Amino acid sequence: MTHAKRFGWPALVLVVVLIAALPLPDFWITQLNYIALYSLVGLGLVLLTGVAGLTSFGQAAFVGMGAYATAWLTLNTGLSPWLTLFIGLAITGVSALIVAAITLRMSGHYLPLATIAWGLSLYYLMGNLDALGKYDGLLGIQGLSVMGWEVGQGRGFFLLAWSVVLLAALAILRLLDSRAGRAMRSLRTGTQMAEAMGVDTLRYKIIIFVIAALLASISGWLFAHFQRSINPSPFGLKMGIEYLFMTVVGGVGHVWGAVTGALLTKLMEDQLQVLLPRLIGTSGSFETIVFGIVLVLTLKFLLNGLWSLVERRLPRTPRRLDWPGVAPLSERAKPAKGELVLDVQAIRKQFGGLVAVNDVSFQIKAGQIVGLIGPNGAGKSTTFNLITGVAALSSGRVVFCGAAISGLKSREIAARGMSRTFQHVKMISDMTVLENVALGAHLRGAKGVASAMAGLNREEERQLFAQAQAQLERIGMGAYLHEQAGNLAMGPQRLMEIARALCSDPALLLLDEPAAGLRHKEKQALADVLRQLQSEGMSILLVEHDMDLVMDVCDHLVVMEFGTRLTQGTPEEIQQNPKVRAAYLGTEH
Ligand code: ADP
Ligand code: MG
Repeated sequence: MTHAKRFGWPALVLVVVLIAALPLPDFWITQLNYIALYSLVGLGLVLLTGVAGLTSFGQAAFVGMGAYATAWLTLNTGLSPWLTLFIGLAITGVSALIVAAITLRMSGHYLPLATIAWGLSLYYLMGNLDALGKYDGLLGIQGLSVMGWEVGQGRGFFLLAWSVVLLAALAILRLLDSRAGRAMRSLRTGTQMAEAMGVDTLRYKIIIFVIAALLASISGWLFAHFQRSINPSPFGLKMGIEYLFMTVVGGVGHVWGAVTGALLTKLMEDQLQVLLPRLIGTSGSFETIVFGIVLVLTLKFLLNGLWSLVERRLPRTPRRLDWPGVAPLSERAKPAKGELVLDVQAIRKQFGGLVAVNDVSFQIKAGQIVGLIGPNGAGKSTTFNLITGVAALSSGRVVFCGAAISGLKSREIAARGMSRTFQHVKMISDMTVLENVALGAHLRGAKGVASAMAGLNREEERQLFAQAQAQLERIGMGAYLHEQAGNLAMGPQRLMEIARALCSDPALLLLDEPAAGLRHKEKQALADVLRQLQSEGMSILLVEHDMDLVMDVCDHLVVMEFGTRLTQGTPEEIQQNPKVRAAYLGTEH
């Protein structure tokens, strides 16, 4: 992601300062102040919905938390607003953590429903507590001042609010272009690929939820000291829906989409409130209907929001390869050639009455390419899932590099040096090949969200990218570094997945039907890569349908049928085996 660089921060700061200096009517400054407050909430939704694919209708409640916390505290304790900001953030952070920990474990529609419930209950809480002034709210909140200078409600507040927006945008852009950010961006593909790369997906979802809540809370803090009075209505469910609304229209996938959405919504609202009564002849909240139509049209014709129209026209500058000479990442000790890498001992998987994998055993020695073959439904994929920790064993044991890994989560198995690709390629289509592959090195880095936001992760980023580039070049993909992953043909996509898996410095590489969907030339290229990796000492388990490829590259074959191991041996032995010919080759040819 290179938005940050190509947009030019000095230019943005200049625009903000210029607007403050220009003799604009106060009305416009006020509107821009509201737009800044909305943008902050929208930035959180970009992370939550755009990046992680999580939907929240409850952001307004977090705005309310920040607002009520500072309002009540400054009115009742006399603490400085700059202190109550952090108290509000702490309250919001803890609440968000609890909501997230409860709801994010559950899948599907649970989160949106939970955020609705959260938004509703907080609204009624604010409206019913005597201490918070019930539905009348709290009045007489002080304005902000910075080192004795009154921020006020005009240009001073404008400068403060937009500085906060720009800082937040910068922090999020830095985050998205980092080790943690790549992990976050992988969440939209589901959790399987991310976990296989060693990402703790639940943890990242919780972090994202909390960051979004904190941004909303800051917006609420600013709002309370800007308005000087608050009541529950701007923090209700309706506003929660509107925040999501404006961000989706602006472009929930982009940081600047949040600002675009806030800007357009506010401007449209103002215009419509004047225009519609004149057109229709009566007053009422007709603008809501127009908003609804705009949302539907946006979703239909411009799924990525209005900002995507601008984004398309911005020049793309490829990432600067500024890592020559960087210290290489440390490598794990791997088994010597011929040592046992994987020992699959009578593993079994039952789905109800169906025995999908029936006490299957086999071994892989370091430097071997072992093929797992069998007709459709034989249990290959299930075997693969049992080894990689995606599915739980019914019985049996898997020993990897001398240690039992049965029962471990797939990311824990990944951490021990097993890395995989997917039958259906799983990638982050809007990232470059280099960035996708860098995700594979996730476990070899350590820098988290805070260091990314503060820009303290540069050295490690260079190391991760150097590794990604090296692995891509290793398998002949050096020409594709800056290519958008989603634009690749199937062959290069599959090679990209292999490079990504190699980035984790695996002791064993598991490939799930890597030749599926490849053309003849691409299959040959794949076979060359596999042979080369083997010559470099890599151990590989290959689940594959393509018999030519399997016979060509494998040292040893395990044949499955109806969940059972039919036989095993060298490709020559398997080709001669009458049982195999009957069960498998006979049905295929
Ligand atoms: P292969 O990859 O060799 O084609 P699979 O491992 O996908 O075979 O499937 C083996 C058997 O297990 C099939 O009969 C399949 O229908 C069944 N199976 C696979 N996954 C599940 C599941 N999650 N629930 C129930 N049955 C399953
Ligand atoms: Mg399969």
